[in-house]
Amino acid sequence: MDKIWEEMYEAAKAVLNPRTISEYVTAGEVAAAVLSKSGKIYTGVCIDTCSTLGICAERNAIFNMITNGEQEIDRVLCIAPFDSDAGPCGACRELMVQLMPTSYKDIKIMLNYKTGKTTTLGEITPNWWIDY
Ligand SMILES: [Zn+2]
Repeated sequence: MDKIWEEMYEAAKAVLNPRTISEYVTAGEVAAAVLSKSGKIYTGVCIDTCSTLGICAERNAIFNMITNGEQEIDRVLCIAPFDSDAGPCGACRELMVQLMPTSYKDIKIMLNYKTGKTTTLGEITPNWWIDY
């Protein structure tokens, strides 16, 4: 495992903080780190609400990256609340494809930090619905 994945894991772990915010909102059960092309790490946590207003940790981290003026993703890592492999959901994949329609297949994704298993967005999203 290279040092960048370790730095991303530590950054995500630092914001991992499961908590109840109100009787309708919980947050922090999943944490994600996104490495931008410039080499900066952005983090985000999942926010769950009772009426689908929440967001996945990955998209929250990507929005954090965009908020800070960047738009190209190099790597994505998330810490899920279970030990099995976990890749980004369909909505998160769709956002990454729309952000980088000509190069999304190169985005590297950590599927399981404990085993070091990685993939690419191209491997798990081989055909985009707009680009058939
Ligand atoms: Zn998602």
